[in-house]
Amino acid sequence: MSATITILPTSLANKIAAGEVVQRPESVVKELLENSIDAKARSISVTVKDGGKTLIQIADDGAGMNEEDASLAFLRHATSKITTYDDLECIRTLGFRGEALASIAAVAQVELKTRRDEEEAGTLIRIADGVIQEQSKTGMTRGTTITVRNLFYNTPARRHFLKSNSTEFKHIYDVVQRIALSHPDIAIEFVSDGDTIVNLPVGSMDDRIKNLFGERVFATLIPVNEHTELINITGYIGKPNFARKSKAEQFIFMNGRFIISRSLNHAIFSGYEHLVEKGNFPFYVLSLELDPHKVDVNVHPSKMEVKFTDEQSIYRIVMAVVRRALGELEVVPSVEFQPAPSSGPFGSGGGSFRHSEYPRFSNFPPINPGSFTGMRSGQDDGDVLPHGGGVPGPGASAFGLDVEPLFSGAGTSAAGPAGDVGTQVLRMDRTAGEHTDAVAIWQLHNKYILTQIRTGLMIVDQHVAHERILYERAQLRFQNAVPSSQQLLFPHTMTLAPGDFALAKELLPDLELLGFQVKVFGKNTLVLEGVPPDVKAGSEATILQDIVDEFKNNQNRIVLDARDNLAKSFSCKAAIKAGDRLTESEMRSLIDQLFGTSMPYVCPHGRPVIVKVPLTELDRRFMRT
Ligand code: ADP
Ligand code: MG
Repeated sequence: MSATITILPTSLANKIAAGEVVQRPESVVKELLENSIDAKARSISVTVKDGGKTLIQIADDGAGMNEEDASLAFLRHATSKITTYDDLECIRTLGFRGEALASIAAVAQVELKTRRDEEEAGTLIRIADGVIQEQSKTGMTRGTTITVRNLFYNTPARRHFLKSNSTEFKHIYDVVQRIALSHPDIAIEFVSDGDTIVNLPVGSMDDRIKNLFGERVFATLIPVNEHTELINITGYIGKPNFARKSKAEQFIFMNGRFIISRSLNHAIFSGYEHLVEKGNFPFYVLSLELDPHKVDVNVHPSKMEVKFTDEQSIYRIVMAVVRRALGELEVVPSVEFQPAPSSGPFGSGGGSFRHSEYPRFSNFPPINPGSFTGMRSGQDDGDVLPHGGGVPGPGASAFGLDVEPLFSGAGTSAAGPAGDVGTQVLRMDRTAGEHTDAVAIWQLHNKYILTQIRTGLMIVDQHVAHERILYERAQLRFQNAVPSSQQLLFPHTMTLAPGDFALAKELLPDLELLGFQVKVFGKNTLVLEGVPPDVKAGSEATILQDIVDEFKNNQNRIVLDARDNLAKSFSCKAAIKAGDRLTESEMRSLIDQLFGTSMPYVCPHGRPVIVKVPLTELDRRFMRT
């Protein structure tokens, strides 16, 4: 720290979020650790006794203070970290209020020993009741050691307020853990009542997590690494099935500072898309780096709450990043289709397909269950899901979340009308043994879709695949508020049980966004005049009741917000079922659209959509090894 300490002018001091800094031993540890980090320490040791009540000592090897600064440091609003209002707009240090040392010195007996490199000797200062009792020179190496004894000795009421030693210890441990996680480049030792609790060497983030939580926890984590213009996000998120009952292992750091953000917690939780149920908490350690101008940390005295200028964008990026990391969870990275021969029927159609592991299968129109029965010719509303349906709007590519298409060239195939392709496919099927580079596709028991991938066999559950597609489509409709609907030639009148009627009425605005046209027609009676194009012909009469039932079911099982529940209920009930026979083109279209979703590998309820059987597994079973 080359800047020297000055006392902030009152006008600036008044702009700083005021409040009690020292509430318990934990706050002392936090403030002192932050000072050591701001002083660029490489190694810090924390020693406490009796939960910090009788002793807290923090020793660092940071920049230290000269004698003059040392005597100023305990004055209120004495800081070397900001001098002007502009500095307050762009905080790069953990501290900036110049209040911590003053507040601590007011309620404890404090000893400061500090030395800068260029000083011949160190400075020792003893303070009690906020007044310097002793100041002298002392021999020591570079760095600062602050010893805080008998916290609240002069304010018995507050001392009384402290919890048991073990509870106060636990709070201190939490602080040490947060600091350790946000700064793996600093060695940290923590000793309590003579026991070494942790002794963490300098290392990578991976090492730090392993040291703090163990190898077993580390093995359940998925890395996150996203760099966008607005924000960089790195760290780890836990696999959903390892979620715990407690929030204790959730950490968000913003520019090296542990923060508490309901909004970001929500973004992450939404990223998990209810793979984790309410009441369970996935592990995460996420570090966000962004321009300090774009975030305000001067919101609360604890400096743990922050305000982002661009809160919505950050929310969306965080959610998308988590969702994508989870989506990749099930992937065998080597999975890849053989590129289709240029003369083959499945050459690239270009288009919306973006997952590099999979080629675009076809350029067939989106699957339309209406055509299964041929009853209602689906007027294609052009409602093809854009890539990453869960990532809203134009932001997705701007944030660099796009993946290059596998086939970037123009369509090479002569994929004509579906009929033609169908015949060609039959031929390909028969000769699949020889033409291993052609991608064949089969339906098994009108339930599963089988196809060859480079590493072996891919099996898709047709119902859950369609469910995933419709779920994201429904969410998109909610977001964009552009319903798409097909008028029914013969409106359906239906009478519901009073409870169901009330629920349906409550859901009406959202049902309309999905594409349902419903009129209330007297007591407990609704008239359905139009349905979303995704609704299978012939099921118009029952679909609403089905959705209401599913909605109630979900309500009983898990806590969902109403829209999410409706999207899930709709997608579950409108999706093709096991037993529905699919044409060749429908299967291909289904798979295309599936890989256009943000999370092809799990359905909205968390069931797997895709199972892969690697060739190596088949070889093993046939004893071909
Ligand atoms: P703030 O951190 O908000 O500036 P503090 O009261 O915590 O206010 O500290 C006051 C000043 O004392 C800091 O600005 C810094 O210059 C100096 N200081 C405190 N702790 C240390 C330390 N461990 N090493 C070097 N300087 C320190
Ligand atoms: Mg400070």
